[in-house]
This record gives sequence, C-alpha cells and structure tokens, in this order.
Amino acid sequence: MELMPDFDLHRPTDVEEAVRLRAETEGALYVAGGTDMIVNVRRGIEQPAALIDLSSVKELQEIVEDDDGLHIGAAVTLEILAGDTRVQESFTAVAEAATAVAGPTHQSYGTVGGNLCLDTRCLFYNQSEWWRKSNDYCMKERGDICHVAPGGKRCFAAFSGDVAPAALVHKAEVDLVSATGRRRVSLADIYRNDGMNHLAIEPGELLAVLHLPKAESGQPSTYEKARVRGSIDFPLAGAAVWLNQSGDKIEELRIALTAVNPYPHLVKNLDKFSGVKLDDNVLNEIAEMVQSQAKPMRTTTVKPWYRRRVVGAIARRLTAKLSQAS
Ligand SMILES: Cc1cc2nc3c(=O)[nH]c(=O)nc-3n(C[C@H](O)[C@H](O)[C@H](O)COP(=O)(O)OP(=O)(O)OC[C@H]3O[C@@H](n4cnc5c(N)ncnc54)[C@H](O)[C@@H]3O)c2cc1C
Repeated sequence: MELMPDFDLHRPTDVEEAVRLRAETEGALYVAGGTDMIVNVRRGIEQPAALIDLSSVKELQEIVEDDDGLHIGAAVTLEILAGDTRVQESFTAVAEAATAVAGPTHQSYGTVGGNLCLDTRCLFYNQSEWWRKSNDYCMKERGDICHVAPGGKRCFAAFSGDVAPAALVHKAEVDLVSATGRRRVSLADIYRNDGMNHLAIEPGELLAVLHLPKAESGQPSTYEKARVRGSIDFPLAGAAVWLNQSGDKIEELRIALTAVNPYPHLVKNLDKFSGVKLDDNVLNEIAEMVQSQAKPMRTTTVKPWYRRRVVGAIARRLTAKLSQAS
C-alpha cells in the first residue's frame, strides 16, 4: 500500500448536492463505505482529485416499504440490509448475499450502492503500484495489454460483488440520478460485458435506490458462493437462485452468477425448464447450462475450469434445496 495521496473531500447532505459536486469537480469520484475505493486509492489504482462522500446523505440511508415493495437507499449498509427481517423473509437471497460479503467489519461500512457499483477485479489489477508497474501495468489501468489474454483486445476482469446476482433474480430496479435528472432502470441494464468499463451508467450518475419489487417477493430464493477464505473473501464463483414451483414441476426458474464474467450474469434460456418435472437429470442439465454461460478467465489464483464447475454445482445444489423447501 502507498501512503494516502492528497485529494479534496466533499461531504454533501442531499443527493442533488452530491451529483452537482460530482459534475462540477474535475476528477471527482463517489465514495460510500470506502471499503473498496480507499484500498484502490492507496494502491494508486484510483487517483481522484476529489472524493464525494455519500455517508451524510440522509435520503440514501433509508429503507422504505410501500405497495410496490422495498426501496433501499444506496448508502444503507450491508449489515442493516442483511438484518432487515422484510429482506430476510421476502428477498432471502439478497439478505444471504449481504451476509456473504467480506467479513462483519466490511459489512458494517460497506453499502448497497458500493456493492452494486463495485469495480471489476483481476489478479493483475488489484495489486500495489510497484507490482503493477513491474508488470507494465495492464489494459484496465495505464497499460496496453491484458495479461490474462495477451493476444486479445478485451479486458476480462470479473465482477465479484455478492448482492447484484441476488437482486437480479428478484428483478430489481435502480434509480440513477445525475445533474440533469433521475431515471429508473432495471438493475440488469446497468451492467455490460466489458471488464474495463462494466457499468453502463453515465459518468457522474449516482445510484440512489435499489427497488425490490413486491411482485417478485413471494417465491423462495437463496445465494451461495465459493471463496478461498471462508471468513472474509470475494467470491471465486457465486450463484443466486429463485424458484417458482407448481407441485413437482418448475413454473419459472431464475439463476444469476457472479465472479465468473465481467458482469453479474442472469442465466439465459432457463424458460426451457418451465413445466418440467425437477429430477436429477434436469438438475444436471441446469448445472450444464450454468457452466456453459460462465466464462471465468485467469483473473484469480484459482483455475477457471474449477470456478466454472463450482458455479454449476452451486446452482444445482441451490435449485434442489429450494425445490425441497417449497
Ligand atoms: C478484504 C476485502 C474483502 C472483500 N470481500 C468482498 C466480498 O466478499 N464480496 C463483495 O461483494 N465485496 C467484497 N469487498 C469489497 C467491498 O468491501 C464491498 O463490495 C462493499 O460493499 C463496497 O461498498 P462500499 O460502500 O464500501 O463502496 P466504496 O468502496 O465506497 O465504493 C465502491 C465503488 O462504488 C462506487 N459507488 C459507491 N456508492 C455509489 C453510488 N451510490 N452510486 C454510484 N457509485 C457508487 C464508488 O465510486 C466506487 O467506485 C471486499 C473488500 C475487501 C477490502
């Protein structure tokens, strides 16, 4: 780690002031809990001229419930999210995912917005300045080549947030606010398959609210991840599953993955299982479909083939678990 560099710190108290400061201040970035941003600043990965600290914006700290569902402010901490009984009961995967982030200290500072907007990660990127410099940096930061796939022109850094896949299976939406207005979009739409630039939001847009729709709350959901250190670690592979069953037949199945693509991936073509009896053969087919859509690369010390098999196994196990529970 390097010493903390100089930067200006702004502490707005409302969303409008936050987005205005971000728009007016060249080289400014948002910081919420700072559990990822400050590490990146100290590693020289981020070199902000100013940080806009969101921790004093009251509107972002609230969880509001109405007829449409739960509306979770972006600065709500993961600890509060995980401990909310409404989230635990109606959006179980989201509560489980929040509990799976890093360890308890990170959860008490880390926020929903920071987790959803988490930068992508790679073995060749999340390193100290001297380490990256000795390796001529990489395409994602100051360099020209991707050390993971040196012949290619793409960055394969993996999105490794825990909450996004869980929110995706519940068809979550988010509010994005900029100096020019507010828009509500599906959470899936804020991500793109590009490790270098995985957030499909406008520069300076603030993620203000995570909406968990009530219409999606009735069915059981769950989340699990594999990691090197059980007490505190990013996922090597993670899956959230949501299942609507009628008798022993699948009505609708949703699975979303993390840490195996540059974005949280909602598994496609699962509708082929609608109306199908859920038995061992079908569970194997589901695992194969998940594995075929997971594209882990050499972005961690753990081999891609292993992460692909693990994510299929997790999705299979969780689908079986939900099916037995309902
Ligand atoms: C040792 C260690 C282990 C970790 N393990 C995990 C893990 O297992 N799973 C996991 O998911 N994460 C993990 N993290 C990363 C991090 O702690 C969490 O993702 C946390 O939720 C990030 O939230 P934050 O509020 O601290 O974000 P910050 O660090 O403040 O910000 C993260 C990014 O989000 C942007 N941002 C923050 N809020 C907003 C907003 N409202 N709108 C737009 N952009 C915003 C920031 O500009 C920054 O780019 C780990 C970190 C460490 C250091």
